[in-house]
Amino acid sequence: MSRTSITELFRNNREWAREVHEADPDFFAKLAAQQSPEYLWIGCSDSRVPANQIVGLLPGEVFVHRNVANMVVHTDFNCLTVLQYAVDVLKVKHVLVVGHYNCGGVRAAYEDADNGMIDNWLRNIKDVQFAHQEKFDALDSDDEKVDLLCELNVMSQVANVCRTTIVQNAWARGQQLDVHGWIYRLKDGLLRDLNCSANSVEQIPEMYRVISKHSDLATLR
Ligand SMILES: [Zn+2]
Repeated sequence: MSRTSITELFRNNREWAREVHEADPDFFAKLAAQQSPEYLWIGCSDSRVPANQIVGLLPGEVFVHRNVANMVVHTDFNCLTVLQYAVDVLKVKHVLVVGHYNCGGVRAAYEDADNGMIDNWLRNIKDVQFAHQEKFDALDSDDEKVDLLCELNVMSQVANVCRTTIVQNAWARGQQLDVHGWIYRLKDGLLRDLNCSANSVEQIPEMYRVISKHSDLATLR
């Protein structure tokens, strides 16, 4: 990026701050005092999928975590830290796992090329593909298969969010928390609900359930 375009970013920023202030003179004072977002967005790092803009939310309204291919990996302390802070401290009401069609990360997982270190990250997506092989066999083109993998990956990450101790403990103490899986189409800018939402421990397989110290079962032990 040239020096001119960096200068431009600061100019854009001053213009944006001026416009926001004109529309609501208290906006920045309120924002600086506290953030109280109702949503945690877990999305792809892809520059074409900006969290706030897509759902028409302002700064302060959505807590955001993005990584390559919107993954929730149980050993990823970065993602888990964001989730824990969002659920336990900010008390968000919804976790939105948002993938997008034709995701480069998902495509790289689908293809068998050697991409170096990132393949270890994407191996989690390969596991999703392996678990649903028959669905892929039913499709003809690679593009369709990649898009199916984008959808299945979102659903799998929703399951991962629900299987964390963080979400299960929130449910056990009666906190309202809905986890959703959505997918965004770059071609038309539209979001689609993949209908895999969950808001209770009964929706996750028994073997993944944690007997929380907040639950009735724990007091019986
Ligand atoms: Zn992506």
